[in-house]
Amino acid sequence: MDAGAVTFPRRTTRQIFVGKVPVGGGSPVTVQSMTTTKTADVEGTLQQIYALAAAGCDIVRCTCNELEAAEGLAHIVPRSPIPVIADIHHQYRMALAALDAGVHGLRLNPGNIRKPEHIKAVASEAKDRNVPIRIGVNGGSLDPALYDKYGGRVTPEAMVESALSEIAYFDEVGFDLVKISVKASNVPLMVEAYRQLADATDYPLHLGVTEAGPLPEGIVKATAGIGALLAEGIGDTIRYSLTADPVEEARAGKVLLESLGLRERTGVDLIACPSCGRAEVDVIAVANAARDAFADREIPLQIAVMGCVVNGPGEARDADLGIAAGRHRGHLFVKGMNVAVVPEDEMVETLVEWAEFISEHGAEAALARVDTEKAAREAEKDRLALLDEQGADANASEQRVELLNQRFD
Ligand code: SF4
Repeated sequence: MDAGAVTFPRRTTRQIFVGKVPVGGGSPVTVQSMTTTKTADVEGTLQQIYALAAAGCDIVRCTCNELEAAEGLAHIVPRSPIPVIADIHHQYRMALAALDAGVHGLRLNPGNIRKPEHIKAVASEAKDRNVPIRIGVNGGSLDPALYDKYGGRVTPEAMVESALSEIAYFDEVGFDLVKISVKASNVPLMVEAYRQLADATDYPLHLGVTEAGPLPEGIVKATAGIGALLAEGIGDTIRYSLTADPVEEARAGKVLLESLGLRERTGVDLIACPSCGRAEVDVIAVANAARDAFADREIPLQIAVMGCVVNGPGEARDADLGIAAGRHRGHLFVKGMNVAVVPEDEMVETLVEWAEFISEHGAEAALARVDTEKAAREAEKDRLALLDEQGADANASEQRVELLNQRFD
């Protein structure tokens, strides 16, 4: 089966717009992140927003916890390259101030703003200005009344009820520009809460595992929750909540969506072998150097770094471009065909040159400009020499098979 033809279903949701960015209703899943600067620090916050946008962030959130922050937003919003959402915690007045500042969206935590008249006042103002609100339920700050109702525990049912009660208040003032999140730091709890919410409403959903933590564990935890839901078709916008530079959140979100085929790739998809007894180079070092070299290049190709020419070109034959090490040389291949041989210390720069050429002129043109037969002969020479040196079983697999067979003799 053609792997590129496999796609995930998407749950049908309503569509809202955060600024000019659509969320839900079949639009591409978007990546969000949050600034860590003081929002009153306009230049510092904008610098971070620019870095986030460059890393693939579609919508950014800034805290609006005090009047100075709202004032900062009034300066930030018109200069931001992406829509800005104000994060409101306890004071509904800050939501009104953020609306005055011109934000493209609000995030309210129903566990923190609980007075119906306050919720409705904010929804009315948002309605008048056509500004959407995210109902951001958080397992860690659930409404105490719901916590008690569900036996002193945070349950998926309690989180969903919190979101639906907020919607009921919004309904009273005729406001429906809504997206919802039911985040928790516990992955199974979060997954189940979103599943129940997806059954209960057709509002677009914002996915996240809250307080996922530092790298790399935080990325794994968040990916487990967000990825599981996206594969089920649930989720319209996502945020990685990492204890790291927010640029890492944007990168992780972008990579996840690209990996799931939910976002068109703009950068390199770097694949690399895990290395084994056959490796002729430090695969980790070369792969890291390649990742750095391609980091800022918009080249939507799959590029492989392989540890040996014995198996590398075959294992990565589907890559657009790749390099495999062999006896202090790098064997470059395009769509599985050998095209060039370069000294080991020029492997990465050669990859970049060829990637740029292929991205501009296509793989056929790249193949046409070289003597592929000569390159294949060189690769075969190194392959045979390595087989000769290392034997056919460089990983000692056969010895292990023999050992385990002795046990069962
Ligand atoms: S056989 Fe070669 S390409 Fe495959 S994992 Fe080992 S070093 Fe990498």
